[in-house]
Amino acid sequence: MKVLVINCGSSSLKYQLLDMADESLLCKGLVERIGIEGSILTHTKIGQDKFILETPMKDHTEAIGHVIDALTDADHGVVKSMDEIGAVGHRVVHGGEKFAESVLITDDVIKAIEECSDLAPLHNPANLLGIAACQKLMPKTPMVAVFDTAFHQTMPPESYIYALPYEYYEKYGVRRYGFHGTSHRYVAQRAAAMLGKPLEELKIITCHLGNGASVAAIKNGKCYDTSMGLTPLEGLVMGTRCGDIDPAIIGFIASKEGKTIAEMDAIMNKKSGLLGVSGISSDSRDVEAAANEGNYRADLAQKLNYHRVKHYIGAYIAEMNGCDAIVFTAGLGENSKTARAAICADMEYLGIELCGKCNDIRGEEAFINKASSKVKILLIPTNEELMIAKDTVEKVEG
Ligand code: AMP
Repeated sequence: MKVLVINCGSSSLKYQLLDMADESLLCKGLVERIGIEGSILTHTKIGQDKFILETPMKDHTEAIGHVIDALTDADHGVVKSMDEIGAVGHRVVHGGEKFAESVLITDDVIKAIEECSDLAPLHNPANLLGIAACQKLMPKTPMVAVFDTAFHQTMPPESYIYALPYEYYEKYGVRRYGFHGTSHRYVAQRAAAMLGKPLEELKIITCHLGNGASVAAIKNGKCYDTSMGLTPLEGLVMGTRCGDIDPAIIGFIASKEGKTIAEMDAIMNKKSGLLGVSGISSDSRDVEAAANEGNYRADLAQKLNYHRVKHYIGAYIAEMNGCDAIVFTAGLGENSKTARAAICADMEYLGIELCGKCNDIRGEEAFINKASSKVKILLIPTNEELMIAKDTVEKVEG
């Protein structure tokens, strides 16, 4: 079955077409500036040069229309007609407590995703726009929703309840949900395959270190804890997000600077993290380059970042009473040997010993621990689209 994977943002849309007969990627693309001036589609058929289309696209339906044209084009297309596409898999950010796994999209599912929009006001409405556009243009094709939060629904209450008045959980669903679930699940499955053991018998800590970043403790195949919370703001130091802070800081700064809650929210989400501390960039490559040139704040931002990941690894080993493997994935995790080495340094006490030579690698599956290391350390490139496509096939074929 050929599966179209759609990841829809409010003004952008990423897509991939995969042939699930051999799990190969046929093409991928990105539409940017939907509904604003300068709409542009960039489409890449694997093995060919990019095809670029600059034309006004007033909404997601028009954008998907151009994606369909690109997919079926005689030159840069990959299918003769859309009938060849068996299903569409949609990334949906927030499934709340309603979805613990992927689901075939029905009217009831759409209603439930709408109800979760309160928890992800920027993301879920955009995801729904993508679903509506696809349903309009491909009315007979089955669609599946794959949620970022679903994998984390197995956490026990002691991992997900905040120590606030319980009524806020009951009334508004204020709790830890966790994100990047599709990535954590994918790399955990790959780790089990690399270790040659059933996932159900393993304790794994997965570190998804990208622009957004989170750690998950996966015990016997199920998520036990994760660093992101009600929103993707909690946990690690990220490109522009602060991660964990003392909640009292928000009121303190707001009163000193005369900021509103919305302004504080924007500061913590968009002006903090690597960018806020370094004052240079949200991109870890820029921060690393500046640190290497002796910039104090860039060096500090990096150290803070690595320190926080180490903090969570230690916490999750304690929570799970052990750990068989630590996995590094996403932009920084896959590409930065400096980051992996700094995070794993000085953890021999916990049985974590990184091999400097094996760590000199990027972007491919590998063991990067010393032979003597009790805990295996793995580098696994994430592939959320493949995971979404696999779920889609599973749900459509029943
Ligand atoms: P992602 O959100 O997974 O795309 O990851 C983005 C982050 O990964 C950014 O902070 C990038 O600086 C970082 N990254 C990507 N490539 C590299 C690289 N070659 N070396 C170091 N960091 C990288």
